[in-house]
Amino acid sequence: MKRLEHLLQEVCSIPTAPFAEQRVIEYVRRFVRQRPRLRVLRDESGNLLVTLPGRKRAAPRWVFAAHMDHPGFVARKMIDPRTLEADAHGWFGIEYVIGARVRCFEGEREIAGKVIEATRARHDLLTVPKRVRIRVPAPVAAGAPGMFDQGTGRFRGKQFLSRGIDDQGGLAAALAMIDALSAKSGAPPRDVCLLLTRAEEEGFIGAVAAVLKPMLLRGSDRIIAIECSAVQPFAPQGNGVIIRVGDKTSVFNSSLTFFLTQQAMRLAANDKSFKFQRALMPGGTCEATVYDAYGYTAAAVCIPLGNYHNMDRAKKKIAPEHIDLGDWKDMVKLFIHLANNAGQFSEDNTPLKKRIEKRYNRLKKLLA
Ligand SMILES: [Zn+2]
Repeated sequence: MKRLEHLLQEVCSIPTAPFAEQRVIEYVRRFVRQRPRLRVLRDESGNLLVTLPGRKRAAPRWVFAAHMDHPGFVARKMIDPRTLEADAHGWFGIEYVIGARVRCFEGEREIAGKVIEATRARHDLLTVPKRVRIRVPAPVAAGAPGMFDQGTGRFRGKQFLSRGIDDQGGLAAALAMIDALSAKSGAPPRDVCLLLTRAEEEGFIGAVAAVLKPMLLRGSDRIIAIECSAVQPFAPQGNGVIIRVGDKTSVFNSSLTFFLTQQAMRLAANDKSFKFQRALMPGGTCEATVYDAYGYTAAAVCIPLGNYHNMDRAKKKIAPEHIDLGDWKDMVKLFIHLANNAGQFSEDNTPLKKRIEKRYNRLKKLLA
């Protein structure tokens, strides 16, 4: 299999859940060890920052941010030898959960079970499960992550499916970018970093920790939040990577979003196979909202995700998430292009003002 596909499949097959991202963290640490130019730092909350040094080290860094969790379960305790009590984390409708098959991961063991009971909580307009009971064939240790048992990453035509793509798919794209950059002989123009956060699906817990106690972030960072976001009728799968101008809660930095759009247009002009869209994706709130609210220069990029949070809304049942492989590859292309052209960004919207004033200067005489 080709390198990119292999990386996507591998990352989207790692077991994870909010607050139980240990396997993803180990994967990233191994990935960094295998690439001598990369460095990794960790904050006290367990968020990671991977850095590839650029040519101009004093200049603002480009930080691509993805979360390492996916909605699922964390084992609490055995109620009896065949019943596991677990916390449900991340949001999915309770009606999907009862009877759903779940796979728990403890060391090398995988224990497949079935949800038999759930307590209720409210989140936005959804009634969501809070604590569940899972019928299991063998005991599961406290702290083990559980995921909907919808299979590891696999390809079907142009589609890629897995039990978890939000946001392992985003993480895989960020790793693919830094892999490509670190394999090149020269350094990128600016430091390129990956901020990899924990427990996004429970309300950006890792990202909030990263801004309240910034051990990894700097005030001058330009942050690109990466997501797989619920597909919308106006931003369909197969139409390319999405420059996400906003989410359900807020809109993002105007000049950085403009820069992203300009760069995507440049890329499209030179590469006929590259496609992009520009949209406000209201299916959820992403970490760019957090970074923006705390004063960082933040924009967002995403790809359209089918069966968001494992919910097949048409069939009203749990299903694998899916993306279009072309959209994902376009996301990787865009990231590489951005990293290679990072030096051209100006925070004060100069390129936009120049464009506006060019026409103004030609036509202002007509105002007289
Ligand atoms: Zn997500």
